[in-house]
Amino acid sequence: MSEYKTRHQKRKFYDSGDWKQLRELIKKRDNYECQECKRQGKVAIDTYEYSESAKRKKIQLVVHHIKELEHHPELALDEDNLETICVDCHNKEHGRDFRKKETKWNDERW
Ligand SMILES: [Zn+2]
Ligand SMILES: [Zn+2]
Repeated sequence: MSEYKTRHQKRKFYDSGDWKQLRELIKKRDNYECQECKRQGKVAIDTYEYSESAKRKKIQLVVHHIKELEHHPELALDEDNLETICVDCHNKEHGRDFRKKETKWNDERW
């Protein structure tokens, strides 16, 4: 099984064709909406004011591993372990998980 512990290994994963393809699938599945904002009942964008294309530019979306890649490499390409969230929520997610580490997490933005 592949491991994704080092930066290099992660980088390789996020550069892979498999990931890029799946990432688009997940965004589509989630209607290009932040699932976290949705859970909180927030509307991330004003759908009446912005066109589809503008809307997508307005919020930057990332496809996030619910169970971290590093600890659950077997779920790297598992659709159930992936969800679309906005950059704001993503930072919060990882801010919480990575509070003890000082590195800023941005792998999934690639
Ligand atoms: Zn969000
Ligand atoms: Zn993430």
